[in-house]
Amino acid sequence: MNLIDTPISQKLSFRQSVDAMVDRAAPYVSAPPGLIEEIKACDSVIKIQFPVRMDNSEYRVFTGWRATHSAHRQPVKGGIRYASAVDQDEVEALAALMTYKCALVNVPFGGSKGGLKIAPRQHSVNELERITRRFARELIQHGYLSPSGNVPAPDMGTGEREMAWIADTYRQMHPHDINYLGAVTGKPVSAGGIRGRTEATGRGVMYALREFFRHPEDVKQAGLNGTLAGKRIVIQGFGNVGYYAAKFLAEDDAIIIAVIERDGAIINHEGLDIDDLAAHFHATRSLKHYPGGAYQTDGAACLEMECDILIPAALENQITAENAHRIQAPLIVEAANGPVTFEADNLLREKGKLVLPDFFVNSGGVTVSYFEWIKNLQHMRFGRMQRRLDEYRAEGIVQALEEMTGKPVPQHLKQRITQDADELAMVRSGLDDTMRLAYQEISETFHRHPDIQDFRTAALVVSLNKIVDTHLQMGT
Ligand code: GLU
Repeated sequence: MNLIDTPISQKLSFRQSVDAMVDRAAPYVSAPPGLIEEIKACDSVIKIQFPVRMDNSEYRVFTGWRATHSAHRQPVKGGIRYASAVDQDEVEALAALMTYKCALVNVPFGGSKGGLKIAPRQHSVNELERITRRFARELIQHGYLSPSGNVPAPDMGTGEREMAWIADTYRQMHPHDINYLGAVTGKPVSAGGIRGRTEATGRGVMYALREFFRHPEDVKQAGLNGTLAGKRIVIQGFGNVGYYAAKFLAEDDAIIIAVIERDGAIINHEGLDIDDLAAHFHATRSLKHYPGGAYQTDGAACLEMECDILIPAALENQITAENAHRIQAPLIVEAANGPVTFEADNLLREKGKLVLPDFFVNSGGVTVSYFEWIKNLQHMRFGRMQRRLDEYRAEGIVQALEEMTGKPVPQHLKQRITQDADELAMVRSGLDDTMRLAYQEISETFHRHPDIQDFRTAALVVSLNKIVDTHLQMGT
């Protein structure tokens, strides 16, 4: 079914909204009849209900889902979300976004996503561990979790701790699988994780924006000019993605003028001190009473503030047909998954706003997950073989230059030549390269097709072309 022409009064679900975006891109993709429908369809989804004993001995039944959207490449990949509002439609929509995300950034995985209906803050750590291990066991037993088939990662409400429990559960059930660490990514570094994964999504947002500002014609298209330095940014969401994006963008001299959270927003037109705000937020779990800015209870209203860049980094469904016409920012950078609905996307385009789409902007997480998975399969940290070799060579170059010229190499140049390529430096370089290349492909497609009006459609065309190619090469 083509959803593009659905009347605005008939609200699309998250899943339908993602599908409608694909429908809009489909005419620019050359594919045999029916193949785009095949790609859009969610391959399979499992709903699991399982009991867990609470600390007070009571039994509680939990409901979780894992959707495999497209297994055109394997393993399929995507996070596990813990939230009380999770449902099947959301998990399927997020799984679909993972398919388009992986294809866009050349991560050779299909798309998947999991969700557990739970309010994690209402449980003790012991309960959370029992619930997570039980959910993992169910997923493993039903064939929805393994290093070669389906590899989860953190998402909203989950993090390193949950991933370590999942990896350990998989290891217990498959004691002879030498690649057990590759069953899940986003693990603590001491438990087989990779340096730089925690902040990867936020860092990717910064790399995405840096690359955007290297394209003056695109910057102009958004009605902006210059570089990232001095741009006034509003960020919605101060969780893992929002915090790191804010921090790295501020380090690049952008000015974070507002941070919006569940319970309100904090505003400072001179620019917020992100680490100071984070310390307050972690201590009090609220932005309220932060002395470095003005507090406003109506957080959602701040999405409509005058600024250069708006970064929704919280939940889906934040910019809708209801508030889209009030958005003032000329550039909207989707760090969350699905923050702009299909209807709102159309309204923003009509108003000349430029939206950098979620499955590009937040792809840093899965990109570094891919590096982690490779590290797990190769059983060796990146750089272990060549790090010292590079160092000796670099020292040799410096020595040769000094002997030949009779002058010392200036310290700042020496530092660049002998820069240490440890695992973190490699992860950052791989992430930066990935974000740059993906942006270039999107921008090139946008400019090549005069009929394509927005970057989301251009990005979907890039992804769909790659997925179609894989299908055609593979046959059915
Ligand atoms: N949950 C993250 C996302 O939405 C990361 C997925 C992964 O690393 O597999 O992209």
